Amino acid sequence: MNTSIRKTESWVPPTPPHALKKRPRNFTHQASNRRLPEFHFDVNVTSKCNLACTYCSEGESCGLSTIFQAPTNLLPDELVKKVLELDKTKYSAVNLYFWGGEAFTNWPFCKAVMNKLANVKYINFMFYTNGVYLKKYKKQLATIDKKLGTRGSSSPWQNNGQRRLHIQVSFDGEPINTLERHTKTGPDEKMSAHVFDSYLDLKESGFSIALKQTISARNFKYLFDVWKWHYDRGIMYGPTPDTHGSDEKRPDGGAWPEGEFGENLKQLKLNMIKISKYCIDRDIIPSNTFRWYGKSRADCGSGMNYLAIDLDGKLYPCHGCMYRQRDDHLAGTSKDNLQDIATTTTEKYMDFLHTFKTDQTLDCNNCQVDFCLKCPAGSFDRSETTADTYGEAWQDHPSNWQLCKVWKTISPIVDATNISFDKKYPKNRRETPNLNMPLCKPELASLYA
Ligand code: SF4
Ligand code: SF4
Ligand code: SF4
Repeated sequence: MNTSIRKTESWVPPTPPHALKKRPRNFTHQASNRRLPEFHFDVNVTSKCNLACTYCSEGESCGLSTIFQAPTNLLPDELVKKVLELDKTKYSAVNLYFWGGEAFTNWPFCKAVMNKLANVKYINFMFYTNGVYLKKYKKQLATIDKKLGTRGSSSPWQNNGQRRLHIQVSFDGEPINTLERHTKTGPDEKMSAHVFDSYLDLKESGFSIALKQTISARNFKYLFDVWKWHYDRGIMYGPTPDTHGSDEKRPDGGAWPEGEFGENLKQLKLNMIKISKYCIDRDIIPSNTFRWYGKSRADCGSGMNYLAIDLDGKLYPCHGCMYRQRDDHLAGTSKDNLQDIATTTTEKYMDFLHTFKTDQTLDCNNCQVDFCLKCPAGSFDRSETTADTYGEAWQDHPSNWQLCKVWKTISPIVDATNISFDKKYPKNRRETPNLNMPLCKPELASLYA
């Protein structure tokens, strides 16, 4: 046995159901204290957006959507019918996520769906939003939030007092929010201030609401400033690095020349060292304020009790695959029975994950980094040229070499910083995420903890 392999902390590889003689307790890939897994369903409700962010892979600025600036072809009743095809005895909850473009530009659709499903207590809702319209819809959101109430009154094991409606605001922190999240006329500090103020307003009003950040490699030079911006406001920082700049299909991107990316990595290193030093000098435990200092090589949950539906009714294993719009990832269409598709994809992607976790020849299994956001939807495209099968391409995370390099660059700095803190505070336990969530939904881990 290769003893250099380090498994993800507290992770137990799921065993594909067809490989089992007897069903083990961890069969459903859910937290051990839960009887049933939750189902996640991403719904693209529109490709329209009021912004034109520099790193957008979803809305109109890059034109990757199925239909340019249009709402979903589905009617609210059709979506409701699909969701109700899921076998409720298999799940402790079903979570519906409204995506865009900007989901609030199709508010009538989202509102109709929430109203029609309000009495189906095991269904929860979440908006991914740029936050610009939060104040505009606050009153209507309050009405529906009140109607929906808290989670799980029919499911005691998930009755944790969380609201059934959750809102996640994409907000990157200053100065980069203003630099990255552009209005149609360009950077706008007033718009940024409005979004942050709206977030605080809804939070104070008792909504379940959180911020989610992104940082482009070109803005690694602001990493210290933007982390500090969050730290000063008591907000956890954990951005997704954007490496779409290498996607030649994007009109705003084009491949990063290697030299230019190298310069970005240099900035990343310098800024991480600055953050570490700031924390050490002031006794701030970095993993409590910046997720990249935590121990997390959470695995992608794509397809495992998780599906996404595009504007044209096509089904994919997750929103990342949906936005790539490749037939390789296609799982079905709205004409198929949703539970049948869910059962097939869960088995298929559990199989991939099991191989990924147990195949000792794969690069990731011999990698020493503690934190990594592996996204097969992002790495698949580059891997297809060398991989023989879909499964091989799916598991070839390092083929997204830029993202891989981000984690390998920060890793020695994170390690050295954490070792110094572990010596000083031996009782401090670094938080690990809920590894049973799809990793692109880490913000929800706290809701289910
Ligand atoms: S708000 Fe979201 S969908 Fe709209 S342009 Fe920005 S990243 Fe794209
Ligand atoms: S990590 Fe990527 S492939 Fe996996 S669920 Fe998230 S977007 Fe999809
Ligand atoms: S993608 Fe790269 S950094 Fe992440 S685990 Fe794999 S080899 Fe390591």
